[in-house]
Amino acid sequence: MRLTGSVALVTGGTQGIGRGIALRLAQEGADLVVTGREHDEKSEEIGELLRAEGHRVHVAAGDITGMEVCKRLVDETVAEMGQLDILINNAGVHNTAPFWDISEEDYDLTMGVNLKAAFFITQFFVRHVREQQAQGAKRGGKVINISSVHEEMPFPRHASYCVSKGGLKMMTRNLAIELAPLGITVNNIAPGAIATPINQELLDDPDALSSLTDRIPLSRLGKPEDVAGLAAFLASAEADYVTGSTYYVDGGLLWNYSGQ
Ligand code: NAP
Repeated sequence: MRLTGSVALVTGGTQGIGRGIALRLAQEGADLVVTGREHDEKSEEIGELLRAEGHRVHVAAGDITGMEVCKRLVDETVAEMGQLDILINNAGVHNTAPFWDISEEDYDLTMGVNLKAAFFITQFFVRHVREQQAQGAKRGGKVINISSVHEEMPFPRHASYCVSKGGLKMMTRNLAIELAPLGITVNNIAPGAIATPINQELLDDPDALSSLTDRIPLSRLGKPEDVAGLAAFLASAEADYVTGSTYYVDGGLLWNYSGQ
């Protein structure tokens, strides 16, 4: 168990990729805080599942487009668990629209969840690590952003999503340097197409699905578990010398892509 004694906060841990990561980090021995927008059936389900397996878990809720929520999630984690070592900035949204139709509201939501919240939750996490270090703690930390192949690959009709993920790419590279002296590593995982609720429309459209899988060299969509294994490695001491990079989990999609 590579993460025994660590506490991980997974934003958007109530379903999809975040849920898969939360389950995997718990199996590796981490104590978990998972978050979604609301305390609801979904968030209760993951909390109950982890508790039933004997893990220590706290479920927190709030819309992370609000700064006060970003701060509270870190404060609540520290209050409930005593520390925070691993931050998984996973919560994300996307909308589909031609560039000329994207509203300010859609843009603000996409940027607010995918980039601004990741930026400021990371800032509150770093302040926590610095406070601990000022009191003599030797611990650094791990920040793992769930980005997307679209931090690199254009995706017409998803401009705000691509801009938000491109921002995460530069945030990772910048913070990897600035936070290295604190012993904090920062990496991105860039999934390709993963079978989660965010892709429900695609999953319900057999023609669109087979046109996409035809372009994926490994001929299938990914599963949350495919992403979770890499997250567990990046969160562990085995990755202590790994920082500032993006790791693709896309079945080969990125380098085989031939447009819409
Ligand atoms: P998902 O199934 O739709 O889950 C999104 C999660 O984000 C949910 O737990 C949701 O919480 C949370 N969330 C959304 N808006 C929020 C807000 N305003 N405040 C707080 N939490 C919020 O998505 P997913 O497919 O697992 O995607 C997870 C991450 O992977 C995202 O960053 C996404 O961009 C990235 N990604 C996904 C794919 C893919 O193919 N699935 C590919 C590349 C990258 P509640 O619903 O419980 O409120």
